[in-house]
Formats: sequence, C-alpha cells, structure tokens
Amino acid sequence: MSALKVLPTVPGTQPIISKKPAVDPSTLAYKDLLRGPFWQRIPAYASVTEEQFLDHNWQAKNSITSPAKLLAAVQELVPAAFIQDAELGFKHSPMSVRVSPYMLSLIDWENPYEDPLRIQFIPMGSKLKADHPKLDLDSLHEQADAPVPGLTHRYQDKALFLALDTCPVYCRFCTRSYAVGVDTEEVEKVSLKVSSERWARAFEYIASRPELEDIVISGGDAYQLRAQQIEEIGDALLAIPNVRRMRFATKGPAVMPQKLLTDHAWTDALTRVVEKGRKLHKEVVLHTHFNHPKEITGITEDAMNKLMERGITVRNQSVLQRGVNDSPETMTMLVKRMGHLNIHAYYVYVHDLVKGVEDLRTSVDTAIFIEKHVRGSTAGINTPTFVVDAPGGGGKRDVHSFEYYDRETGISVYMAPSVKAGQYFLYFDPLHQLSKAVQRRWADPAEHDLMTNAAIAKAKERIR
Ligand code: SF4
Repeated sequence: MSALKVLPTVPGTQPIISKKPAVDPSTLAYKDLLRGPFWQRIPAYASVTEEQFLDHNWQAKNSITSPAKLLAAVQELVPAAFIQDAELGFKHSPMSVRVSPYMLSLIDWENPYEDPLRIQFIPMGSKLKADHPKLDLDSLHEQADAPVPGLTHRYQDKALFLALDTCPVYCRFCTRSYAVGVDTEEVEKVSLKVSSERWARAFEYIASRPELEDIVISGGDAYQLRAQQIEEIGDALLAIPNVRRMRFATKGPAVMPQKLLTDHAWTDALTRVVEKGRKLHKEVVLHTHFNHPKEITGITEDAMNKLMERGITVRNQSVLQRGVNDSPETMTMLVKRMGHLNIHAYYVYVHDLVKGVEDLRTSVDTAIFIEKHVRGSTAGINTPTFVVDAPGGGGKRDVHSFEYYDRETGISVYMAPSVKAGQYFLYFDPLHQLSKAVQRRWADPAEHDLMTNAAIAKAKERIR
C-alpha cells in the first residue's frame, strides 16, 4: 500500500501530494538528547546538584587522573578485576590519563569494555596490542616542519600554533602524545608550555611570512588558556596584516560543555576576539572534536546555542576509531546530531599511527566504506571529508586519493603535490586486520622494504 500522503492546502489551491513515505521516527533519534541528572548514577556524584555539575571548576577539580580516583568515583559499579586491568592500562599508556566527570557519567558502566567513551579515555591492559613496526612517536613530523618550537608550517598558507601542552581531558589516541600531558612511564614529553617568549617568536615568524593567512591555535587545548590569554593570542594574530583566518581548537565542547555556560570570562573573551575579527573582516571560529553521538547531551545543546547566539561558528574534526565510531550507523548519527546543533562536520581522520593504541586504529578500507554511507544522509555542508593525515608530513589527503592501495599488506601510497611535491607518503593499516601470513611478513624487518618498495613501484606505474 502506498504511504504517500495528501498534505493540507490553502483553500482554493490544488492539494500537495507528498512523494516521500512517512519517516520512521527511529531515524530522528539524533534529535533526542540526554537531559536530567544523569551523573547521579555515578556513586560519587549521587548527591551532586545541577549547579555543581555545571560548574567548570568542579568538573576540572574532580577529573579522574588515576585508577584510585576512578575506583573512588565508580565504586561498586565495576568489579575489582576491571580496576586491576585499568591499572595495567594506565601504566603502559603513552598518554597521561584525565577524564572529566561529564565523560565518566556518560559511560555505560554495565558494559564498560564495549563503551565508546571508555575506549577513548581509559586504557585497559588487556586490550593493548603491539604497535605497527612503521610507527614513530611524531608520525606527522610536526616538529620537523616547525621553524620555531610549537609552530608547524607545512601547508603554504596555513600554520599550526601549539600554544600550550595541557588539555581538559587526555585522549588515548592523541597524535601529539610526543608533547601533550605530563611525562609517562612510556614517554618523556617535548615541552610546549605557555611562554610569552615562545609565543612572541611564533607571532614574529607568522608576520614575516606574507603567505600565511590561516592560523590554527591548538596545543594541548585552547580550553586550558586563561581568558586573558585567549585575547592576547587573538589580538596579536588579528594585528598581523597577512592573517585572515583563525581557528581556536578545543575538545572542550565534547568533554566539558559546562565551561561555555559557566566560565563567563573565557566565553566572553572568545566572543570579543570573534567580534573584533569580524570588524577587521577576518574569520575567527571554534574547531572542536566530537567522536561519538553519546558525547552530545542537552548540556551540549545549551552550550552550542549560546555560541550560536553570539555568532560563533563551530566546526568538528572526528577521529575514526575501532569500537567507537567505525560503523555507518554511528557515524551517520554523529554527523546528523552535530548538524542539528549547528556544528559543521568538517573532517573525519583515519586514525594516525600513534604509539600504544593499535587497538583503536581502523583501515583505509573501513573509512571508504563508512564515507559512502554517510554521504547523502544530510546536506553537503554538514558532510565530513574523510582524510588520511599522511605520515611523514604530507598533510591531509582525501582518503580516496591514494595512488595505490595494497589491501593485502595494508599499505596505501599518497602524494601531496601542493605540500611536498615528488614525495610518496605511506599509511599502514593495523596489523590485526591483515591476514596471518602478512602479519608474519611484518614481523620480519627484512620484509618491510620489500613490501613498501613494491607498493611505491605500483604507485609509480599508475602515475605514469
Ligand atoms: S584534547 Fe586534543 S590535544 Fe588534547 S589529548 Fe585530546 S586529541 Fe590530544
């Protein structure tokens, strides 16, 4: 039977026949946002009021940084074996661990091993996998492309300014684990602390390069900058004639949206920089980092509405992660939910080659598969581009644009003619998704050059 519907019309006009069948309400679930005191499910937060939970200082002060603090928060929700497993995970993690109470409250503690938020922030010893042999700690070569410490100039007209090295939470998958957070048992970090002298050198370099129009202010995380520092950086960059666009990069809205609602000094400082930029005809926006639809709640909606009212554009960059968002359903839900709150889905990154998180990586093939399903589910302006950030400093390449992809050895070969002409950049799929025979080849260092040279030779053949 046809589900076509006759819509009511203005008297005297022809009835309108809807050609689309009535929508299945479940497809609109992206609009259903969690509200109410959901945090009170956590034993340590059972009597925490809404006012406290919305206080960004309370969130920062009560963040989880050790297995002991984790146990103190979740108490009987998890068995002792889980905490022991987490202790092992903390011990071997290249990243510091910090989880906000907001994130902790959104984890499904009845099934924490499978929970997409737990997977991103709390390392478990039992889940660790050996790193890919081609991995190095700064796989994107950000330091090699830095003319002054903490300023990466790779693309012709854009630079990445790492203003500081701390974040409101620490993500297991962080590309910048070489610098972000405190030293761990596994990694001694490069220092990128707040320093007026270092910042001045970065601004001086930017002013000396007329081709630089676009500056990303990251870290670490711009959420950790004091209000006065947001303005100091904003004013300094806006005063440079060649700078036309700036993006403050922060994971904050995804992990602690409360700050946008209750740290008035910070949000007002950002607003002032955005407004000043607008008067100078320069764009200042916020770039954030949602990875899973569960990270978006009613609190996020209130925070995003506040930015919308102030005319602040928000764009998102996600990281594709195994067990987190590596399905068409989850990624589509994320993209639609962000669109609903006026957050533009800008990029989805294939997971960088990062130490200690091989369990999180997916393949180029997975990214292509998911992209095919996401495209068409919403308007193009809200459809993310799926990219590989080419190891070795090739920059972001559309995932489909490989010159050659050997799905058997898991090697994809990219070129970046506008970034580093003539060079080949290789991405490596995670070992555990390859056949046992190929895994054995990767276990033998003598085979590495054979496999990579073969992939590059095939790429050259196709380019000719
Ligand atoms: S917030 Fe960003 S910089 Fe900080 S740990 Fe997470 S991914 Fe890394």
